[in-house]
Amino acid sequence: MSAWKETADGVFTRRFEPVNVTVTAVLGGDGVLVVDTRCSVQEGEELRAELAALTPLPVRWVVNTHVHFDHMWGNAAFDVPLMEPPAEFWGHRDMPDYDPDDAEFAELRDMLLREGGPEWKPKLDALVIRKPDHLVTASHALDLGGRVIEMLHPGRGHTDHDLVLWLPDAELLIGGDLVEQSGPVAYGSDSFPLDWPATLAALAALTTEGTTYVPGHGDPAGRGFLADSREFVTAVAEQIRALHADGVPADAAVAAGSWPIENGSHFTSAVARGYAQLSGTLP
Ligand SMILES: [Zn+2]
Repeated sequence: MSAWKETADGVFTRRFEPVNVTVTAVLGGDGVLVVDTRCSVQEGEELRAELAALTPLPVRWVVNTHVHFDHMWGNAAFDVPLMEPPAEFWGHRDMPDYDPDDAEFAELRDMLLREGGPEWKPKLDALVIRKPDHLVTASHALDLGGRVIEMLHPGRGHTDHDLVLWLPDAELLIGGDLVEQSGPVAYGSDSFPLDWPATLAALAALTTEGTTYVPGHGDPAGRGFLADSREFVTAVAEQIRALHADGVPADAAVAAGSWPIENGSHFTSAVARGYAQLSGTLP
């Protein structure tokens, strides 16, 4: 766990373990807006205490960049009965539901217990998923009191419902997992590798020379970092298209491909999703 860092005037970022997730607090005249809430209700409560130590302003808004557990399972710490009055919860309209009876959800729980260790047991037992109910489709501006923040969906990439935040007064872009700094671009079973380059192009179009980019994991970086990530996702998308066009079967494509970094297994999801899109089984 690091300390809060004032990344721009009245904008604080901090990296938290597990999974090195980056939380952002934006201070406005009327309260604090928090972007992403860590991996459990318990961690969300720790976050609430760290925010109270940072500022006397109340947390009025919680924004989730996407549905993944490390970005929103702490939400309930900012809702009644743990916090009164509760924050408003914002997210993208297409954020999927967590269904406790769903096989994918059971798989995620198993993975966390297996790879995260026994400390996950009480966290999972106490899990309360508080989904956003203030929903954004294309874009929405929030006035925090003398400071406006824009939430927008730049297109599909890490998921189909990534929400990014743009602070014009600070020239700061909070991008969630569309770009990560502490690890490679994160392809998963719900990502869109072929759409990702255009989505990062849309993000780049928002930025200026002096823009600070806050990733979903890791430290804030400059505009050049966004450009590097864009090159990376473009190379992956082009490779998937080329392999598909050459008739290389999906199960042989990871091994047959020439990827921008040396880690074949990292591209398994990217290839599977890209192939599904090219063959029309994924819209
Ligand atoms: Zn994610």
